[in-house]
Amino acid sequence: MADEKAPLVKSSLLRPAGPHKGASQPVVTPIMPSVVYASETPDALDAQYEGRAEGHTYAREGHPNADVLARRIDALEGVSGGLVTGSGMAAVTAALLGLCGSGDHVVGGDQLYGRSLRMMRDDLPRFGIDTTLADPTDVAAVEAALRPETRMVLIEVVSNPTLRIADIEGIAELCRARGILLAVDNTFTTPAAVKPAEFGADIVIHSVTKLLAGHSDVTLGWLWARDEDRRKAIRDFAVTSGLTPSPFDCWLAERGLLTFALRYAAAQDNAEALARHLAGKDGLRRVLYPTRSDHPDAARAQAVLRGQGGHMVTFELDGGREAANAFTAGAEGLAFAPTLGDVATTLSHPASSSHRALGAEARAAIGISEGTFRVSVGLEERAALLDAIDRGLDAAARA
Ligand SMILES: *Cc1c(COP(=O)(O)O)cnc(C)c1O
Repeated sequence: MADEKAPLVKSSLLRPAGPHKGASQPVVTPIMPSVVYASETPDALDAQYEGRAEGHTYAREGHPNADVLARRIDALEGVSGGLVTGSGMAAVTAALLGLCGSGDHVVGGDQLYGRSLRMMRDDLPRFGIDTTLADPTDVAAVEAALRPETRMVLIEVVSNPTLRIADIEGIAELCRARGILLAVDNTFTTPAAVKPAEFGADIVIHSVTKLLAGHSDVTLGWLWARDEDRRKAIRDFAVTSGLTPSPFDCWLAERGLLTFALRYAAAQDNAEALARHLAGKDGLRRVLYPTRSDHPDAARAQAVLRGQGGHMVTFELDGGREAANAFTAGAEGLAFAPTLGDVATTLSHPASSSHRALGAEARAAIGISEGTFRVSVGLEERAALLDAIDRGLDAAARA
């Protein structure tokens, strides 16, 4: 019988009614990689777009893993409505380009993260946004940089690598009085030491890549704005320009974030011990740690950081590049790598990495020489960490 059709096979592509709903729930957030979300009816989609129902439509506009991570970081910062982005720089970009436009002026701290500095110097001016850099430890210098059209001031609380402490209280007051937005990149300090929203910051930014995720296996950012309309402007800019994070990265960062408080405390204990250890040594020009009494901003570190010195220690070797080479080669087991906030200790040499573009003269002006190292202290057993550092210092002394 020629016109008899073969029996229909039920397609494996027909979608099931929804995700499995059992009587019990997973204790770990599931990874939800779906890019698209199906709605029951156009009316149901309307309800979602109009905010009468919760749900997602398309992953660039948001997805469950980003939401879960954002709510957890919100809780740490004591705010609500934060947004996760694909990197820390995506968060910086979303804050600047989501809220500033042609004709605006932005003031940035003169020791911001390298790429943030570059954004201020090279990129914003191309979009008609003028910028000025000023020393954030000196509120008078920030005030002198302000113009009638200044829209935003962007600072970090602890500078890299010299660990200077910004006058966040003074700058917040200045911005409030002048109606200027204060944006604080809280990556170095983390909410364990500083919650910028409590100081009056209008925008808070994180590179989640660093301490919050903590394992050097994801690149992510987070940002929050106090005002709801500004939150919406930032979110729209981030969605339009595609600054969206991946669900898997968000999931991995959530896993890391669960141990953030423990990692922070352990790394800080190690950092204090390392600073103490280094301060007693010959052959070092200086040792910087925020809560030590010989730190140039020691009083402010107590007030602003509430005694939380953090996990970063900076010191200066006697000798030039040769001593620096000998130190990293001799400090066996400690990675010489351009990052911070990892579970393991990493060594940064600003003259050859983060601050190489500045040139020797500009580096010298902010206190960076060939002998300057910034240590992002990790969770190693203390004796092993100090031993590895000592072996590096011995090698440097012989060079
Ligand atoms: C690393 C870092 C950034 C950029 O973050 P990415 O996740 O690498 O894009 C921004 N600000 C500070 C202070 C950082 O340390």
